[in-house]
Amino acid sequence: MKKVLALVLSGIMACSLAGCGSAAETGEAASSAANAAVSEAAGVSASDVKAAADTASSVAGEAMSAAGEVSSDAQSAITAALSSSALSDGTLTVGTNAAFPPFEYIGDDGNPDGFDIALINAIGEKLGVKVEVQDMEFDSLVTSIGNKIDVAIAGMTVTDERKQQVSFSDPYYEAVQYVIVPADSTIATADDLKGLKLGCQLGTTGNFIIDEIDGATEQTYDKAIDAVNDLINGKLDAVIIDKNPAEVFVSKYSDKLKAIDGKDFDFDTEDYAIAMPKDDTVLQLGVNAALELLKTDGTYDKLVEQYIANYSAD
Ligand code: GLN
Repeated sequence: MKKVLALVLSGIMACSLAGCGSAAETGEAASSAANAAVSEAAGVSASDVKAAADTASSVAGEAMSAAGEVSSDAQSAITAALSSSALSDGTLTVGTNAAFPPFEYIGDDGNPDGFDIALINAIGEKLGVKVEVQDMEFDSLVTSIGNKIDVAIAGMTVTDERKQQVSFSDPYYEAVQYVIVPADSTIATADDLKGLKLGCQLGTTGNFIIDEIDGATEQTYDKAIDAVNDLINGKLDAVIIDKNPAEVFVSKYSDKLKAIDGKDFDFDTEDYAIAMPKDDTVLQLGVNAALELLKTDGTYDKLVEQYIANYSAD
């Protein structure tokens, strides 16, 4: 009996050590451990096997009811969010800069599309509000929050400077800056960037990195693709931009350009989050609750697959 129980418990522990996210996964682990226990149990009395199975199913049951509590907490945060003045008109007005594939770009129908747009639409659905997306310059997003727009989703990195003006949701994606260079370039380390002509999108974390590079001549653009075109035309030595758009842009010109991981240049990792009016805590908790539900119900992973993993540059 001890052996059987130990097997059941080790299955459950393996799950928690491996970080199985949901209660459903814990339940699954418990029941598969129970199955393993049952087959291991040849030679053990039938009542011991039954007891082990009961233990497994009660652990699974507890895990399932914990999930129920999480989602009822999420539900009350969502209900509370509706008292935010941002949602009082029943519409979440969202600012983005639709020139940052695969997170946002102009879709075939002429409207903003991409991972961020799909994610904020799904959040709006959980909150029970309409979502309206406005395309604007990246550099005006933060100052437009609370007046022209309610929130911004734009592959926006959480920074201490921005946090002085806006609040952020929980992070939803990890990123890092990449360096795009001509295909035959020998640029490979942070020192190599000193004194060069470097391009970036205005007001982005790539811009802030260039500000700190000794002797660099900085050229800023409203659209990152314009910086990439100037790199192709020989007007720049390198462009610094987030990983995923860098990969998309380079894939279009792979004979001319290459993208180098910013970790080779000691750039820090960054977190994308949704920016919203500073200290609108009910909205923040509601958005976080919606995000959590989308992660638990599999929507988040589905969107990553659809928009990021399967993004095609054409
Ligand atoms: N992640 C970068 C930033 O927050 C760039 C975002 C963007 O250009 N859309 O500054």
